[in-house]
Amino acid sequence: MRSTFSILACVLLTACAGRTALLPDVDNRLAIAEVEKQHEIFLTDYRDQLVLASTVFAELARANADSCPKAGPLYTGMLATNAGGFPSVQRVAARKVFGNVEGANDVDDQPWVFSVIPNSPATDAGLAVGDRILAVAGQDIGNGVRGQTEMMAAFGAAAGAGPVAITVKRGTEKLSLAVTPERACDYGFALRRSERINAFADGSKVEVTTGLLRFVRTPDELALIVGHELAHNVLGHRDSATQNAVTGGLIGASGALLAAGPLGAMVGLGLAVQGATYGARANSQEYESEADYVGTYYAARAGYNVKNAADVIRRFAVLDPGAIHLRGGTHPSTALRFLAIEKTAQEIRNKQVAGGAVVPNVRD
Ligand SMILES: [Zn+2]
Repeated sequence: MRSTFSILACVLLTACAGRTALLPDVDNRLAIAEVEKQHEIFLTDYRDQLVLASTVFAELARANADSCPKAGPLYTGMLATNAGGFPSVQRVAARKVFGNVEGANDVDDQPWVFSVIPNSPATDAGLAVGDRILAVAGQDIGNGVRGQTEMMAAFGAAAGAGPVAITVKRGTEKLSLAVTPERACDYGFALRRSERINAFADGSKVEVTTGLLRFVRTPDELALIVGHELAHNVLGHRDSATQNAVTGGLIGASGALLAAGPLGAMVGLGLAVQGATYGARANSQEYESEADYVGTYYAARAGYNVKNAADVIRRFAVLDPGAIHLRGGTHPSTALRFLAIEKTAQEIRNKQVAGGAVVPNVRD
């Protein structure tokens, strides 16, 4: 009792002592530069995550076009953004980090290419990072956020009729290029800025969080999870009882394949993280198993190594030890999921070696 009292007394004394430390004087000019630097650090991290996530999603959407109920000539492999989509305080840093080498003080600029996926229609067309998009299919592309919408609409209208003409500005040159989009699943994709570790599917869209991007260790692991979410959409697992409202805005960067869609209830990863409960309906465990099985095929068909990727499920167990069980529980068993994915990976390997079609087995 006495010791408790002494500790309390100390705490009170310290609190009452006031501030005596002489703090360093921070130079205002340095502070301004540091703010800019930190915007750049943030945007570099976000850009890298966006490129990785968009690439994995786009490759899965392309490789599995024949499995999707809706597919079209949507895959260009080009990611574009514009400064107007970023908050005004980030625009100078955004141009630098996202590779816009010109128009340094031009706030309302047209979208420019910030990434091209290797071996894609974009690379075939000769598009390069920094290219400013002036026109698509003969239609002029406007400035600011409007430009992004116009670019997407022009691509959408022209897609399916062979090569799409694009006029770009590269340095002082104007170039006329032609990109031929390939068939891909017609789902939107978004990277949600949230440090929660999760991914979602709502029937029309796939979303992954920035927290998930930090959690996965390889593109293979991400592909397994994106495959899982894609499978929820393809298999019609939309769960109206799952309440996962999307809050907060996504940063204004999007790709040519990325369309914003209405966000409703979403089927999650079957994880319980930070108190949130995802996919806890009676039939959700069946959904999760089916999405794991079919999604593993989707990832493998896009060329990812699914055998090593199963390890991500063991790390889910670390996040959510309540999911470590043999049967029952409100969440799918991480033990059973891990073993089932490993077995699926072997089943896929056998089909690849045999040279047959790599398609999921179905019940008679
Ligand atoms: Zn799921």
